Amino acid sequence: MNASLVRGWCPGARRPMQSGDGLILRLRITGGRLACETARAIAAVAKRYGNGELDLGRRGGLQLRGIRDDDFAAVEAELTELGLLDVDAGAEAVRNVVASPLSDFDETAEGDAFMLAKQLEAALVSDTSLRALPGKFGYSVDDGGCFGLTEVPADVRLRLVNDGVSVSLDGDIQAIKIQPEEAVAVALRLAHAFLDLASRIDPPPRRMAALVAQIGAETIFAASGLVSERVVPVRRPRAVQLIGAFPGHVGVGLSFGRLDAGQLHLLADLAPSDLRLTPFRAVLLPGLPADLLPRLAEAGFVTSPDDPILAVAACPGAPACGSASIETRGLARRLAALRPNDHGIWLHVSGCEKGCASSATHAVTLVGRDGGLDLVLDGRPTDPPHRTGVSPEAVEALFRSGTFEK
Ligand code: SF4
Repeated sequence: MNASLVRGWCPGARRPMQSGDGLILRLRITGGRLACETARAIAAVAKRYGNGELDLGRRGGLQLRGIRDDDFAAVEAELTELGLLDVDAGAEAVRNVVASPLSDFDETAEGDAFMLAKQLEAALVSDTSLRALPGKFGYSVDDGGCFGLTEVPADVRLRLVNDGVSVSLDGDIQAIKIQPEEAVAVALRLAHAFLDLASRIDPPPRRMAALVAQIGAETIFAASGLVSERVVPVRRPRAVQLIGAFPGHVGVGLSFGRLDAGQLHLLADLAPSDLRLTPFRAVLLPGLPADLLPRLAEAGFVTSPDDPILAVAACPGAPACGSASIETRGLARRLAALRPNDHGIWLHVSGCEKGCASSATHAVTLVGRDGGLDLVLDGRPTDPPHRTGVSPEAVEALFRSGTFEK
């Protein structure tokens, strides 16, 4: 494969995506658990073959950036040696599972999300007929504890509850309860039902929420052989802050989800056991003493949950991404400083309509277009803008004045 020809693809490590600063390779780390040795080796690869920058994605994947085309084969060989690559791009694409990061340390967890995620990934890979699933089709495995995944998008959600597993579909508010030993088989049956039912619609829906909207969740459950009564599950939002020092672990945030090879190396050197990558732009370090937090702050990690940078999302923008006509992160940083962090992302700066940094609705979304910015209020990048073609300077003036006229 000539990796440089692959564009507009959700990147993997087997099938990277070309960006303005070179190839992007996304590693899918099972359950987000990364051994320190492996983390150090990834940092070395990122430095040797890429621009030394890595991104923690919205599903907890770790992206290497700026890999040169000519080095792709060498990178593949090193990542294979580390046991990080799937057999092929199809296997990698279907292994799209996010799990709660700290099941083994969280006393409120109802069970081990990591083990279930691992079994589910293995089953997804071995069922080759599931390679037909759309690239973004994914699962979440929530341990039911205080690090819940309610905020993480997933087509099929598995949540450990006190005496079983609750299964729900994106776009539906109800769930079916099953036995833990059925969970993997049920998850696969739902994927097959999705493929079958979606193929009967023209054009076929690409995500579960769209299929649910068209035919209803009950039909999909029934096609999967699930006919038990559906109930509204308890949807507990994440109950804890991720950033800071806690009994049993330390959590550090990454501005815009970005860290460099040196920072990854430092985390691996300090971590007593392993690193836990989360889908929340944060890395957790089980067992790390609280007095090491200042050292992590010095190294550029976000160590306070009140840091305003945590309340903004921004994609890499120009010049890193060829689809962007504006610089995004400097602007987002300046705007973040103008408003306190009220513990939720209120601003999204997106280099284009694709909205790579967030698919959620935010109070303010700025979308780059032809060198200017469209301003969307209470929406997503694809929603109709309230204003168009605003310069970055004018946006900053608007923010400073605190006025957004609807
Ligand atoms: S949203 Fe940002 S990173 Fe994604 S394609 Fe557009 S400019 Fe590039």
